[in-house]
Amino acid sequence: MCELHETSTPELGRRTLIRGAGGLLLAGGLVGVTGTAAQAATSQNGWPAGSSSAIPLATLAVGAATFPAGVRRGDVHTVLGYVARRFDREVEALVKGWCWGHSYRVISGSTSLSNHSSGTAIDLNAPRHPLGKAGTFSTAQRTRIHSIVSACNGVVRWGGDYSGRKDEMHFEINVRPGDARLAALARRIGGGAPAPAPIVWTTVRRGANGFRTTAIQHLLRHRGYSLTVDGVFGPTTESRVIAFQRSKALAADGIVGPRTWTALVATVKQGSTGQAVVAVQKLLAHRGFGVSATGTFGSTTTTKTQAFQRSRGLTADGIVGPRTWAKLTV
Ligand SMILES: [Zn+2]
Repeated sequence: MCELHETSTPELGRRTLIRGAGGLLLAGGLVGVTGTAAQAATSQNGWPAGSSSAIPLATLAVGAATFPAGVRRGDVHTVLGYVARRFDREVEALVKGWCWGHSYRVISGSTSLSNHSSGTAIDLNAPRHPLGKAGTFSTAQRTRIHSIVSACNGVVRWGGDYSGRKDEMHFEINVRPGDARLAALARRIGGGAPAPAPIVWTTVRRGANGFRTTAIQHLLRHRGYSLTVDGVFGPTTESRVIAFQRSKALAADGIVGPRTWTALVATVKQGSTGQAVVAVQKLLAHRGFGVSATGTFGSTTTTKTQAFQRSRGLTADGIVGPRTWAKLTV
């Protein structure tokens, strides 16, 4: 995963930052992964590092993306998940296969451990924002990224803000274990806001046919599964659902219930394209908010989505997230 930005030179800027911030790294002072000193198993930000079996990790799935090996369990997971979700909604949609979490690696050409080694860093849409390249985001996107980071109250740092070589794909926990700011932020994100009303999904299974099955088939295609969209939930659709459930570590029963729906839908909005957009357009038409199923989420689809959202008492932001998907398929 992180070979891209774990080469020796890109780390120099980061190392300087860290040393300036807390004296964590001293030139030549760290031993490698197999060393015996306690700090050998500490990543740059001071968190215990290790292989995926040695440190507590939890899976993370945001939008279309899953993070191989996950990220560190607990408050770090809450915070990095929050960053990834806001990035997915406000900056750009996360792309399947382009996002990374934990990876146990010594930085090439050095003996220090990347923050990915402790599960406290994520890379978002890595191929689009390669290491060392500045300006991979628009000004508007940078503004939104800074808004997300500043909401994290110093707990999260963006690689695009490194003073040295930029790493715009990269977000990391910027405080040490036990820092009160991390726990406070996690509480605020995880439990501080009033709980929104639960999302109610309609369970769909083999034998069903109609608009929900059509949507499921388009979403399966969006997720990379090949099948014909015919609105009939037969054995092929069921087997694709089972394969999808296995890929997400869900109960592989072939039934599209709340958990599978939640994993299957993708947040789409103006500018999105593809099978998930086709599904939304057909669902809107089914609900009487007619729009052509072009697969391109343009201004008409936004307008119709907003009208649908208003009609159902949802926030009329024109963005089709889980709550809107659930109302479209109820
Ligand atoms: Zn990274």
